[in-house]
Amino acid sequence: MERDFFQHVGIQAPVGPTRHCKGWGQEAALRMLMNNLDARVGENPQERIVYGGRGRAARSWPAYDKIVESLLTLENDETLLIQSGKPVGIFKTQPQAPRVLIANANLVGKWATLEEFDRLEKQGLTMFGQMTAGSWIYIGSQGVIQGTFETLAALARKHFDGTLKGRLYVSAGLGGMGGAQPLAAKMLDGVALIAEVDAKRIQKRLDTGYLDVAYDSIEAAVSRALAAKQAAESLSIGVHCHANALLHYLITNQIIPDVLSDQTAAHDPLIGYIPDELDVSEALSLRHADPVDYLQRARRSIAHHVQNLLQLQKAGAHTFDYGNNIRREAFDQGVTDAFDIPGYVPAYIRDLFNQGKGPFRWAVLSGKPEEIYQLDALALEMFGDNPLLTRWFTLAQKYIHFQGLPARIAYMGLGERDAFATKVNEWVAQGVLSAPVVFGRDHHDTGSVASPYRETEAMRDGSDAIADWPILNALLNTASGAHWVSFHHGGGTGIGYALHAGAVVVADGSEDSAGRLSRVFFNDPGIGVIRHADAGYDLATQTMKAHEDRMRAPFVGPNTNIPMI
Ligand code: NAD
Repeated sequence: MERDFFQHVGIQAPVGPTRHCKGWGQEAALRMLMNNLDARVGENPQERIVYGGRGRAARSWPAYDKIVESLLTLENDETLLIQSGKPVGIFKTQPQAPRVLIANANLVGKWATLEEFDRLEKQGLTMFGQMTAGSWIYIGSQGVIQGTFETLAALARKHFDGTLKGRLYVSAGLGGMGGAQPLAAKMLDGVALIAEVDAKRIQKRLDTGYLDVAYDSIEAAVSRALAAKQAAESLSIGVHCHANALLHYLITNQIIPDVLSDQTAAHDPLIGYIPDELDVSEALSLRHADPVDYLQRARRSIAHHVQNLLQLQKAGAHTFDYGNNIRREAFDQGVTDAFDIPGYVPAYIRDLFNQGKGPFRWAVLSGKPEEIYQLDALALEMFGDNPLLTRWFTLAQKYIHFQGLPARIAYMGLGERDAFATKVNEWVAQGVLSAPVVFGRDHHDTGSVASPYRETEAMRDGSDAIADWPILNALLNTASGAHWVSFHHGGGTGIGYALHAGAVVVADGSEDSAGRLSRVFFNDPGIGVIRHADAGYDLATQTMKAHEDRMRAPFVGPNTNIPMI
């Protein structure tokens, strides 16, 4: 039967070696767009919401249809332009240029507020693309799980004996990204107890193997968690309640978690955070009927939430902000000590960025899970001496269920990403794999983001808010020939707080792909290493020096105060 590419319910990407577009660049973009809107993958495909509050893949259904139509007819020397989820132009460029260029949610500095964004979104002029939603490289909760795992592993090394065995991790939010928390804690042998206000989200995590059990009663959930901790059993528990209700219960009963965080979508208090007094359907009604009242309630609850986190932190819980800007929202409500909670990037992740390591990922367009396992084996063969990767692949195979197109994430570093992708391209050419493989990454990476409350928090040279780097990253990846390149505003920490870029290349076995893969996946982490070396990180300078045959950093000298004239 002929496939209907324009249906809006039950979207699933085509799989296998037969192309519907005129080239694999276009075909990969089409399949990954559809994969983002697959109900097994995205959080709320009916509204084109993929994850992260209101992170969307397309602005409207007519815009989606036109993107699909454009990709199906796009020539191999043309480039499609997407402006905040809507296709706006097709230009003759050249065969090695990107097939798609995407800009989402960008606003001029003075106008970069959530209120102004909401106003423009209501007029149909813009769309929030989060990081991988509007750039069509979301792969379900798996996309963040290694980051969560590495964060908790670094924390466990710093504060415990390297594992979470016999430790209790408490947090909230079981959405697209937050849903990775319980499984990551379990992979480190710990007990996870996560509050989630939406029963449907709890069910999705149970269905996809990210959660073991769930309770409606806080008392029952806490008692099960404490029993598991006592028995050093690894277990993930969801509890159907507001974050503040769980935290209040813990405080009242003097139960201090070993590790504490939060992953509600507090970066977007209007859509991503449900105020204490409201259930999910009441929240939906009030959000539409009186957004000003809603925002006041949400911000009050967020302030209370951070006060609760601070109270438990003072009582001994190792507490960290997990990239949802909850500290800043609370600070703006008068919680002046909100930043006593450390951010996870400076605390646990920056050394990975110094080595060009970040959430690299791939999806097999064959749709065959066994081809992911073949690629796992290849990665283990190529990087058997890298303990971070060997441990990760073993755990990923044991615990991770695929959602939509089978995919894998791996924190590969400079020199590893391009080597691996190039080898996979050879495998596609030789027929070892039955269809092409898409390679991309989160915007949450070493050289692709400026976000002062997350990826670039507390940079050594104070360059947290310098946003030239992600712009250079997008330009470099365009010059290097990524199949699609994106530049977004507001992902992770919200409107006004982040600018970031993405790049994707498909390995179709051709010489053309080989060139793109080796350029993009060396240069892309390369600029991240240079960004960190420029900021004064010795580990980044060492990484850069080890790759001087492929990139050079003209050294001007340390960044010092330059006179105005
Ligand atoms: P999401 O919108 O898919 O999920 C948020 C979840 O929080 C929802 O399930 C919602 O019901 C729940 N929630 C809202 N208010 C609540 C409350 N008061 N109590 C309990 N649960 C509540 O968002 P997501 O994709 O899971 O992302 C979560 C946050 O993490 C976002 O702010 C996002 O920007 C950030 N993020 C962090 C990383 C990272 O690597 N650290 C990566 C991506 C996103």
